[in-house]
Amino acid sequence: MEIEIATVGGYEEVGRQMTAVRAGEDVVIFDMGLNLSQVLIHDDIRTEQMHSLDLIDMGAIPDDRVMSELEGDVKAIVPTHGHLDHIGAISKLAHRYNAPIVATPFTIELVKQGIESESKFSVDNDFVKMEAGETMSIGTSGQVDLEFVNVTHSIIDAINPVLHTPEGAIVYGLDKRMDHTPVIGDPIDMDRFREIGRSDNGVLAYIEDCTNAGKKGRTPSESVAKEHLRDVMQSIEDYDGGIVATTFSSHIARVKSLVEFAEDMGRQPVLLGRSMEKYSGTAERLEFVDFPEDLGMYGHRKSVDRTFKRIMKEGKENYLPIVTGHQGEPRAMLTRMGRGETPYELDEGDKVIFSARVIPEPTNEGQRYQSERLLKMQGARIYDDIHVSGHLREEGHFEMLEALQPQNIIPAHQDLKGFAPYVDLCESQGYELGRDLHVTRNGNLIQLVE
Ligand SMILES: [Zn+2]
Repeated sequence: MEIEIATVGGYEEVGRQMTAVRAGEDVVIFDMGLNLSQVLIHDDIRTEQMHSLDLIDMGAIPDDRVMSELEGDVKAIVPTHGHLDHIGAISKLAHRYNAPIVATPFTIELVKQGIESESKFSVDNDFVKMEAGETMSIGTSGQVDLEFVNVTHSIIDAINPVLHTPEGAIVYGLDKRMDHTPVIGDPIDMDRFREIGRSDNGVLAYIEDCTNAGKKGRTPSESVAKEHLRDVMQSIEDYDGGIVATTFSSHIARVKSLVEFAEDMGRQPVLLGRSMEKYSGTAERLEFVDFPEDLGMYGHRKSVDRTFKRIMKEGKENYLPIVTGHQGEPRAMLTRMGRGETPYELDEGDKVIFSARVIPEPTNEGQRYQSERLLKMQGARIYDDIHVSGHLREEGHFEMLEALQPQNIIPAHQDLKGFAPYVDLCESQGYELGRDLHVTRNGNLIQLVE
């Protein structure tokens, strides 16, 4: 059976991930993501109304024109988890393919919300829910199967899809860390990866996320971030003024920890900001998380302002607002608080907890710097970097190679510079650039079996 891989997007950047695998006549697409930084750099762009080709020209969504060179039919579109760099282009591209969107329940819900807010295209692809551990047949040959293996990442319900073919398995390895004690959900299913690696046909190709490949050691578990957070929050337990926390809205496990510690401190947690309401509300509705019944979640400007007024009236010492703005995004809640645009008044000595790391990108770094300056000018004390990454470091990568023993490796989720440490790592394990280690760019085809 002919096996071919199209590296559509995310091979020159972090963002707009998209990869297609052709097994004989059948094609499966993994991820259709958005490169948000290419959107945010323009001040007032509303992508909902934009045409795909304009977004492709901006570098915001994958340039999927290479797909016409793949001789087969797309049978499934498979987003691996709900981060925008993996699902953000579905509303712009999925309607071009007559194929269902196959994903885990939380991811599907987020994809649906993205499609609902789309106003240029009508996307009516079917949805097929599949849980980690399940398998479905692809096409009519009876020889190709799609399996979801449970992985742990900074968003719940993440999987690594595996396409089983007569030539071996194709493992799409974006994005994960090796977490054996996650705060929500099951540990990463390393047993299954080992089984796949030792099966008769083995692993033909492994497509891997190189984000942290240049970092030594291992990425700590989410439970380490939780303990770090507990330590910080216990240390300010007796403070009787304002404490405000921020984290990634989509990081439900972290939001859950913040809510839990707020209650331990005798403060009422409250989630503020549109995306806080969106992600936590969705997770609660789908029963991934059990928040206290009286947990307030407010997204609209008016209800947020009303909540802030109530907090100021009843006393800041009784509340823990958990807000958007961990990267200093100009329109997010924390940045607005820093600018004094909300009814919440910061006083000298008030605490601001960033349970996030700055995404190392000049725009983020600049915006986050500004946000912190504004907060400090009002007397706020900053606690930052209370976080663990969602991506494998060196030792995790070694473990994956050991488990899967892939015949071919394709580095992804970075630019060329970002691939370099992973290339070194693979070469130390006997792979050779150009032979079985395929460094590539967006819009290329790699024929693995002719
Ligand atoms: Zn991700």
